[in-house]
Amino acid sequence: MTHRRIATDLDGVTPDLDLGIDTHCHLWELGLAKQGGLTAAFGPIFRTFSPGDLSLVAAPCGITACILIESGKTREESTAMENMAASSNLIAGFAPYVDLASPSLEEELDSWSTNPKFRAVRARFEGNPDPDILARQEILQGIAKIAERGIILELLVRAAHLKYILKIYERFQHLKSVIEHMAKPDLEGQSDRGEWESGMKALAANTSVACKLSFSPRVEQIGGLLSAPGGGWPIEAIKPFVGSLLEWFGPTRLMWGSDWPVTLLVASYKDTLRGMRVALGGLQPCQEAMLFKSTATEFYRLGAITESVGSSKGS
Ligand SMILES: [Zn+2]
Repeated sequence: MTHRRIATDLDGVTPDLDLGIDTHCHLWELGLAKQGGLTAAFGPIFRTFSPGDLSLVAAPCGITACILIESGKTREESTAMENMAASSNLIAGFAPYVDLASPSLEEELDSWSTNPKFRAVRARFEGNPDPDILARQEILQGIAKIAERGIILELLVRAAHLKYILKIYERFQHLKSVIEHMAKPDLEGQSDRGEWESGMKALAANTSVACKLSFSPRVEQIGGLLSAPGGGWPIEAIKPFVGSLLEWFGPTRLMWGSDWPVTLLVASYKDTLRGMRVALGGLQPCQEAMLFKSTATEFYRLGAITESVGSSKGS
């Protein structure tokens, strides 16, 4: 398995780390994505992204398994995602979108649960102007259905939502959930730094929630990134945030994700991976192995899948 060794041109980081798992990437068919609002203004990501495209960029970096996260809310997009996951050995698991308040939620969960690569569902609250939404009865009822089935809930939230997640855990202590993109703090402006710090610290101390170490632009940043591309992956800005998360959560509750191909708005796949490794600084090899592989293997129960991927050359 020659590609299991990370490329040696990653300056300043251990060259011989045995990397493994990308817990956050997307694939889409342009026709369906256009219906969901993707326009030509999105430049480099206004195209179809297939499992083969992902393999071309991830495999040379030593990535042998990826978790595919939904990029669309429709049934057609979920089906397309299931089909792409089934066609690729690189995709070890997938997480479709759920509307937690949907009357058909249980039916959808039970249907997906028959797919051996189904690993999680994602709920999006980032763009919701009302953080109280996470306290609504219909949302809590949806979370109860997910928790009782032991399904992982991927949470796309911001700092303002974190205190509600703490309350959710008081009620559903066995919920298995993960906060995506570190709850998207305002890295440059630090406008929500205090709320982010207190929220994440409290979640780390009082719940079992996990967190993904990844960068994804906030919605309001995207216009600026498209009109002035080339800024690169925000290594310096993210450093203090990942440092705090490492201290509060520890490497057994943190997992790396690329957010490819959305990350192409700022950097290549390789530079995205390199950026996070540089931002994390001088970790022990065993800590790096947890953040980039073993925590995800355990969290998503990928043992059997990644072993079979490791013995297969397919993508
Ligand atoms: Zn994403």
